[in-house]
Amino acid sequence: MTTQPTASHFIDGQYVEDTAGDIIEVIYPATGEIIARVHEATPAIVEQALTSAARAQAEWAALDGTSRGRILRRAAHLIMQRNHELSVLETYDTGKPLQETLMADATSGAEALEYFGGLAADVPGQAMQFGGDWAYTIRRPLGVCVGIGAWNYPTQIACWKAAPALATGNAMVFKPSETTPLCALKVAEIMIEAGLPAGLFNVVQGRGAVGAALTGDARVAKVSLTGSVPTGRKVYASAAAQMKQVTMELGGKSPFIVFADANLDDAVSGAINANFYSSGQVCSNGTRVFVHADVQQEFLEKLKKRVETAIIGDPLDEATNFGPMTTQAQLDITLRHLETARAEGARVITGGQQLDGPGYWITPAVLADVTDDMTVARQEVFGPVMSVLSFTGEDDVITRANDTEFGLSAGLFTQDLTRAHRVVAQLQAGTCWINQYNLTPLGMPFGGSKQSGIGRENARMAMDHFTEVQTVYVGMGPVEAAF
Ligand code: NAD
Repeated sequence: MTTQPTASHFIDGQYVEDTAGDIIEVIYPATGEIIARVHEATPAIVEQALTSAARAQAEWAALDGTSRGRILRRAAHLIMQRNHELSVLETYDTGKPLQETLMADATSGAEALEYFGGLAADVPGQAMQFGGDWAYTIRRPLGVCVGIGAWNYPTQIACWKAAPALATGNAMVFKPSETTPLCALKVAEIMIEAGLPAGLFNVVQGRGAVGAALTGDARVAKVSLTGSVPTGRKVYASAAAQMKQVTMELGGKSPFIVFADANLDDAVSGAINANFYSSGQVCSNGTRVFVHADVQQEFLEKLKKRVETAIIGDPLDEATNFGPMTTQAQLDITLRHLETARAEGARVITGGQQLDGPGYWITPAVLADVTDDMTVARQEVFGPVMSVLSFTGEDDVITRANDTEFGLSAGLFTQDLTRAHRVVAQLQAGTCWINQYNLTPLGMPFGGSKQSGIGRENARMAMDHFTEVQTVYVGMGPVEAAF
């Protein structure tokens, strides 16, 4: 397959190049090879993308929701038909094993387009009676929205942002992460093939400065970012200066609690899914695994056995279930965290070894004897490192679980459902799982509280975040005045 795209950007229905922009090399994480080169967007490219989006948006908003939805559902169908090809590209872009990308990336993008395509005809307002007079509300599109992506889910992030934006009559200019620029271009191509009018979904490449140029442009009504907390603060501040709406999907250090009565095999499976999928590069990962002291030994034994069966190897081999990390920089961060954790007294149960290159390989690591104050328990690693902590009391574990600036997700395993709901109600996290972890069906709102974000993606709620309410008061009688 060719991984070099036709051109760097996709604007107004076609590939566009401007070689004046700095070169970004795209690296296949499994081998370290350069598989494509794209140019960063110049100011002229940014201008072209915003101008075409603004032009296209007005007509799109005037179209009825059923027609808009039909196009999105057609795009979903095309993505599903090409799932294999798109998944291979996702694997080249990120290094994630094909076994994962076939299930979780293009398919999740298609699901978003299908879901919001289905809802596009149904964006209801409200009506209120005031005596004989009344008022009603209309949900109006915001206009030109900007989407900015992280590198761990390049196809999914593009679709999760574009689908609700387009369904509600907006246009989107999307900037993928500079690390994974390839997949969003394919999404843009497919949208055009599905009949989306040119200009409504434009993709421009670039690093943070391009994202900042888009965010700061007065024509942009909203910014939806998936990224780290420090970037979120900058983007939110820039948007606030012009009173723009934002959705922020940021980082986490989520708690995962295993009570003594939990089904331990399920809890071990949950902990594996919560830490090692996508080589640990998942925002919602439950990386602080609190295990009740009574079952900790058994939990660790089962976990070690299971983790050591991970099949690490060629990501394009469908038998592989654990791939490389996406960048050298993220591998270095992970290795540094492991070194600090050891120095601070954590015990390595398994993994954490860097494998001989080329590529960015490390084995999945489980740390025991982790305490709340250790760096590895406080900072987001964004790598395959699970920290196991011990607890005995319910109130105590809730306090410790909440003792973090983050609030993206949380999970717990217990067979006592009363306890499950009592505990979950006290956890400060936007998305929680009981006896499951990291599943994000489209019908369920997803997002974080505290420093982990603002707003929600998915579910009907996402459409609220891409529209604003216009209220209309209707006078039905004579108009009285003081004089
Ligand atoms: P990052 O914050 O470095 O970059 C995210 C995006 O923001 C990139 O496209 C980058 O170019 C852009 N950017 C950087 N500076 C900018 C600026 N000043 N203005 C506008 N855009 C700017 O994050 P990353 O390293 O790509 O991704 C990893 C982070 O993303 C982790 O913290 C992870 O938890 C988080 N994440 C969150 C979610 C979620 O849904 N909550 C999902 C995936 C990843």
